[in-house]
Amino acid sequence: MSINIIIAGPRGKMGSEAIQMIQNDPKLNLVACIDRKNNGKMLYEIDQLTNLDVPIFEDPKQCFKTIPADVFLDLTIPDVGFEHTKIALQCEVRTVIGTSGFTDEQIDVLTTIAEANKVGCIIAPNFAIGAILMMQFAKQAAQFFPDIEIIEKHHDQKLDAPSGTAMKTIDMIRETRKPKTQGHPHEQETLSGSRGGDVDGIKVHSLRLPGLVAHQEVIFGRSGQTLTIKHDSLNRESFMDGINLAINHVMKLDKLVYGMENIINPIQNDTHRNE
Ligand code: NAP
Repeated sequence: MSINIIIAGPRGKMGSEAIQMIQNDPKLNLVACIDRKNNGKMLYEIDQLTNLDVPIFEDPKQCFKTIPADVFLDLTIPDVGFEHTKIALQCEVRTVIGTSGFTDEQIDVLTTIAEANKVGCIIAPNFAIGAILMMQFAKQAAQFFPDIEIIEKHHDQKLDAPSGTAMKTIDMIRETRKPKTQGHPHEQETLSGSRGGDVDGIKVHSLRLPGLVAHQEVIFGRSGQTLTIKHDSLNRESFMDGINLAINHVMKLDKLVYGMENIINPIQNDTHRNE
């Protein structure tokens, strides 16, 4: 049985990569797109890389009501993705959210709607398998190295800072790290912002430069030693295995799950995981 998918953001970098991934997987089937432009056109009319006669809708509600779908995949911007997802869940369409930068309040709202409608939803700030492992290793290391700084680096078109991955890493680290004030108690910035953002004393630094994709280092310090856990996404293909996994997994869910580490853990013994 194939999984019918609607994508929002088909002209974006992630959206067009996801369309290729779906086309290359015989178990997945793209049935419609949501786009703020090109209402009423077919995908092949706007995307030269595909010959898909998939309709494009500007209005998400009309799209979900007109085209039956198993999974909605959002790859847009935070406020738009939030509105799309609310509508999808209210229309009882399972949702996978790649869009990063949702606030805690937005995630709470979506959690409530998913639970009330018993619809699966996965939000993942980072779908790259290596990035998920980086976060898990960082959580483990924080038990022994409570002094931590994070440097996250992204392309200069990214809207949110710090990245969702950095904030998710901190969430996971806080599960094992004892609260601690880092650095000198009388430290002063002579240039505002030079010590970065601060969550529970953990410093976060966001770099934005052309040429970068998505990169993060978690640096731990302890007397006489440092430990660095580093992950680099070199292109957007790096996120596609995780998106594919999430599309398949959301079919079995009836609530919202935040973070791919909650998806990957239960399948650690899956013999097909390296395929
Ligand atoms: P992108 O190339 O800028 O694409 C964004 C898409 O959203 C475009 O199709 C854009 O259409 C659309 N959009 C922007 N504003 C809109 C609006 N007001 N209404 C409707 N559509 C709108 O960005 P990207 O690199 O593909 O990234 C997309 C999202 O994925 C971002 O949130 C990014 O942070 C996230 N991301 C997540 C992961 C992960 O692993 N979870 C990895 C990489 C990126 P227009 O061209 O008309 O503006």
